[in-house]
Amino acid sequence: MNSKDFLHKLLQTPSPTGAEQPIQRIIRDRMKQYADSIETDLHGNVIVALNPKAERKIMLAGHCDQIALMVRHITSDGFLYVSALGGIDVGVLHGARVTVHTEKGPIAGLIGRKPIHAQTSDERDKTKNDIDKVWIDIGAKNKKEAEKMVQIGDAATFELSVLELGNNLISAPGLDDKVGLFVAMETLRMCSNKKLSVGLYAVSTVQEEVGLRGATTSAYSINPEVGIAIDVTHASDNPGNENSKATPCKLGDGPTITSGPNTNPVVERMLKDAAKKTRSPFQPAPSTRPLGNDANTIQIARGGVAAASIGIPNRYMHTQVEVCSYKDLEYAVKILSQFVSSITPKTDFRPM
Ligand SMILES: [Zn+2]
Repeated sequence: MNSKDFLHKLLQTPSPTGAEQPIQRIIRDRMKQYADSIETDLHGNVIVALNPKAERKIMLAGHCDQIALMVRHITSDGFLYVSALGGIDVGVLHGARVTVHTEKGPIAGLIGRKPIHAQTSDERDKTKNDIDKVWIDIGAKNKKEAEKMVQIGDAATFELSVLELGNNLISAPGLDDKVGLFVAMETLRMCSNKKLSVGLYAVSTVQEEVGLRGATTSAYSINPEVGIAIDVTHASDNPGNENSKATPCKLGDGPTITSGPNTNPVVERMLKDAAKKTRSPFQPAPSTRPLGNDANTIQIARGGVAAASIGIPNRYMHTQVEVCSYKDLEYAVKILSQFVSSITPKTDFRPM
């Protein structure tokens, strides 16, 4: 499987938060030819390692889970009412095609809505953001028929398909954070034929969308010296970003490299040097606060970790039409592989 097919496979495989097993199977299957060891922990994280006997450990985290819906009620008419798994944007649900992931396999559904002709003006304004007004129609005649296919607690995702746009852009649900997962695994693959002075751990973390939970448990067990989260970051090059004083972030102009309290200054400098060395563009991403991604909990695992975050510019985050650029993925893999191989026994990550 080439790299692009691997990415598309990740995007077409469901990974609702808390039910990531199908995508973790893809990771294990793909990475066994490159890794020295692969472990799945009790929480569900898949930990892919190179050189695991090395004393110094570098962790790359890409979260594999995607925002989704969970079935909580089946009506007597056979419609499914749902709760949000992670930060679902209710405003984009109406009219969406979804897939319910059941024990017996995927079931097609759609999210219906009262026709505009019948809506009161109040309904037109307010139903948009109320998850209690969202139902899935799977075409069942009644509750009994629906229950033959779907169980309470099953998860549903947007229909998982990939759309390629102009200028190397790609759109799919769950680019957050399958692109980061892809970058972490591709970096390990690129490093697999190099002689490393460190152990490299690429982790497919679970449950990021409900509180950075897989990064918390896997950082504890790996106990790395350096931990880098690769996750999507908000692009600003589309309408809707009116703050002209915000730090710009463009698709295709390279991944972002963070700075600020959630970023170790030595790692930051080395990432920027790696970008220069590989002639890969990058964009600055200053943050005055702890980040909202896996780097947050990795940094404060155990006695503290030298953390940073690589951001993949992303438009329309948490909708079914997220957009990223293939280019940024390529650059991110180059920067991270160069970073890992530039670590020598003398490298000291302590901020001095
Ligand atoms: Zn994410």
